[in-house]
Amino acid sequence: MFENLTSRLSRVLDSIRGQGRLTEEQINTAARELRMALLEADVALPVVKDFVEQIKSRALGVEITQSLTPGQEFLRVVQQALTETLGGKAEPLNLRQQPPAIILMAGLQGSGKTTTTGKLARLLKEHEKKKVMVVSCDVYRPAAIEQLRIVAGQVGVDCFPSAVGQDPVAIASAALAEAKKQYSDVLIVDTAGRTTVDEEMMREIAALHAAITPVETLFVVDSMTGQDAAKTARAFADRLTLTGVVLTKVDGDARGGAALSVRQVTGAPIKFLGIGEKSDKLEVFHPDRIASRILG
Ligand code: GDP
Repeated sequence: MFENLTSRLSRVLDSIRGQGRLTEEQINTAARELRMALLEADVALPVVKDFVEQIKSRALGVEITQSLTPGQEFLRVVQQALTETLGGKAEPLNLRQQPPAIILMAGLQGSGKTTTTGKLARLLKEHEKKKVMVVSCDVYRPAAIEQLRIVAGQVGVDCFPSAVGQDPVAIASAALAEAKKQYSDVLIVDTAGRTTVDEEMMREIAALHAAITPVETLFVVDSMTGQDAAKTARAFADRLTLTGVVLTKVDGDARGGAALSVRQVTGAPIKFLGIGEKSDKLEVFHPDRIASRILG
C-alpha cells in the first residue's frame, strides 16, 4: 500500500515542533511528499507540477496554531486548495431550457457512455420525475444500439430507434422531433466512441453538437485510465465546449487522481461519479470527498 499524505507529512514535519510560520525549508520538504502522493494517486504530471507550485505559495506565511502540528497545517492548506481546484461544491446538471433539454454524451469507447446514459436516465426519471428519452448515435456498432435499447427498457425510459449506417445527425434530429412530440423533458444522446482519439470521431461529435445544441455536453472518462485520462480530456475539450464530466469506474480506482487531472485540463466541473456497473450506481460528485480520497 502507498503511504498516505497524512503519515508522509507527519513523518517529515512533525519532529520539528511548530513555531511561528511554516518555513520555506519545511514547505519544500512537505511539497516533495505531496508530489509523490499525487503521482501515486495517478494525477497527470503537468497537473501535479502546477498544483504543487500553487500549494507552495499558499503555504508560505501560514501560521502554525497551537492546536495543529506543521504537518497538519500543511495538510489543511492542501485539502482546502484541492477541494477548491476540484470545483468547491457539487454542480448540478443544468436542465433549465425549453424542453426537451438535450444532454450529449461524449467519450472514448469503453469509457462507460452507454451505461452512464442509462444511469442518468434513471436518476432523472426517479429523482426529478422527468420524462426521459434516449437515443444512440453509434451507427458503427449494432451492439451499442442494442445495449442502449436494453438499458432503456430496464430503467423504463423511451428509446428512439436507430440503425447502423444512418447519419448520426439525422438520427439525433429525428429523435429531437419525436421527443418534442412526446413532450419529453430530457433527451440524452449517446454517441459513438473509438478506442483512441480519432479525427473522424471528433468531427462527427462536433457536427452533432452543432446540429442539436445540447444544454449539457458531458465528457465520460474512465478514472482507471490514469495519465491517459488527462490526454483524452484535452482532446475532447479542444473540440467541444464541455459543460461537465462524468468520471466512471471510481469503484475500481482507490485514489481517484484522474479527477484532479481531468478537472484541471478541461476546466469543466465533474458532475457525477460512476461507482459500479448497475443503473443505480451514479453519485453526485462532491469535491471535498474526492479531495480526502486523493490525499488518502
Ligand atoms: P461505452 O463504450 O463508452 O458506451 O461504455 P459502456 O457503457 O459499454 O461501458 C464499458 C464497460 O464499463 C461495461 O462493462 C460497463 O459495465 C463498465 N462500466 C461502466 N461504468 C462503470 C462504473 O462506474 N463502474 C464499473 N465497475 N464498471 C463500469
